[in-house]
Amino acid sequence: MKNYHTHTYRCRHAKGSDEDYVKEAIRQGYSTLGFSDHTCWRYKSAYQPYMRMMENQFDDYQNSILNLKEKYQNQIEIQCGLEAEYFPEYMEWLLDFSIDKNIEYLIFGNHFHLTDETGVYFGECSSEYIQPYIDTVKEGLKTGMYSCLAHPELIFINGIDWTPQLEEDYYEICKLAKKMDIPLEFNVYGFKKTRQFGFTTYPQPRFWEIASQLHNKAIIGMDAHSPKGLDKDLFNKAGDILSHYDVEIVDQLKRVDYKELKKNKMHG
Ligand SMILES: [Zn+2]
Ligand SMILES: [Zn+2]
Repeated sequence: MKNYHTHTYRCRHAKGSDEDYVKEAIRQGYSTLGFSDHTCWRYKSAYQPYMRMMENQFDDYQNSILNLKEKYQNQIEIQCGLEAEYFPEYMEWLLDFSIDKNIEYLIFGNHFHLTDETGVYFGECSSEYIQPYIDTVKEGLKTGMYSCLAHPELIFINGIDWTPQLEEDYYEICKLAKKMDIPLEFNVYGFKKTRQFGFTTYPQPRFWEIASQLHNKAIIGMDAHSPKGLDKDLFNKAGDILSHYDVEIVDQLKRVDYKELKKNKMHG
């Protein structure tokens, strides 16, 4: 049992100490726990984000996790990644940051349109942002920087319905993910959202049918915002549901060589 999608209190909407997550992961029987808190960004404006760590918190985040990695090395494998959006004008910064800080992996959570400075949150937006959501998922995937696509169906938190257009768009997303060998995340935090909202947010059965047609790779992500969010029963429930689809379930994230990516970019 491996989970790479774990938050910390630094994003301001998750609870518990870093060590609490590690202890709980060991108790639940995980062999790998990857931290992937909401990344910081270096804004060009004076914008103050409210749902992610600040840049000056990053070193503490990483040091804390590296210390835990060492302390618990005989009990669990710990990794230090980040969950990041696709913010076109800041991607170069993120790539450099990932190289400088030796980030182990990035997972792609497309939460905001272009940057959070605009205030358009895809988890609460009007229907005119459905297409921009789809388009930026595709553009983000194409950067090759991410090791998996988190909650692909995030836009369904808005209570939207499937349309032929949306089916086609998600087919394209799955096709692209397949081509780029990027697993799609079956997001367990969505179970809670679905209960809260009273309708199916994510995972979306229709989406996983589309992923089945293309035999995509799928990975279970707990998206834990508290140690309790690592509950193995939920992990197993996700595995049960996923096993009914024709997807390839993986539990390993591929490593992206950010230096190589940068080199290739510079040489066009
Ligand atoms: Zn979060
Ligand atoms: Zn997350």
